[in-house]
Amino acid sequence: MALVGPPAAGKSTAMRAFFAAQPGLAHFAVRVFFGRQAAAGTPLGLQAKAFAEQARWLPDEFVGQGLATFLEEELPAASGVVLEGFPRNADQAQLLDRVLAGFGLELGRFVLLDVPDDVATARVGQRQVCQRCDTFVENGVLVPDASCPRCGGAVVLRRDDAPEVFRERLWHHRESVRELLAHYAPRDLVSRVDGTGSPEAVAEQVREAMVFHVS
Ligand SMILES: [Zn+2]
Repeated sequence: MALVGPPAAGKSTAMRAFFAAQPGLAHFAVRVFFGRQAAAGTPLGLQAKAFAEQARWLPDEFVGQGLATFLEEELPAASGVVLEGFPRNADQAQLLDRVLAGFGLELGRFVLLDVPDDVATARVGQRQVCQRCDTFVENGVLVPDASCPRCGGAVVLRRDDAPEVFRERLWHHRESVRELLAHYAPRDLVSRVDGTGSPEAVAEQVREAMVFHVS
């Protein structure tokens, strides 16, 4: 299953609730996966670090290698796999189809967790992210020297949450979603969830979209 939505739609919060309710799922998010690989000093992690130091996006084929590695390690023990924020565009959707086919799998559900632009913009102005484990901390107000409730790491404002950068990210996101819907709609894989409700209500809708469409 894939869960995609604009930045600050509430993907991480919904995922945490979903995983608590459905144990045994494996969770793939590109930043988290390669962050862990880098921390462990694996070849994939070192390569990801090198791309980051050159301020380059991770190439799709490289992300595909990471996903294949993840699936090899996690599939034997997992009851299912949730991809968070992936695929990001039509090229990555095709890549995903190929990687999954290599494991005899196909995508079961594509969930679009959506909020209007003004809601996403208001939310990113109020969040910080943990530098160590990538958890978002929604403070309502920004707290200097705050620490992560999950791991105690330092939380910071993300540079790409700055208003002018964020507007551009949103625009790109909308373009990408159009591509993704065109890719998945013919296979009837798309569920839309409205992300403007309470975190609990949104998490429940995500859970329903993911669980009740997959058998
Ligand atoms: Zn943390």
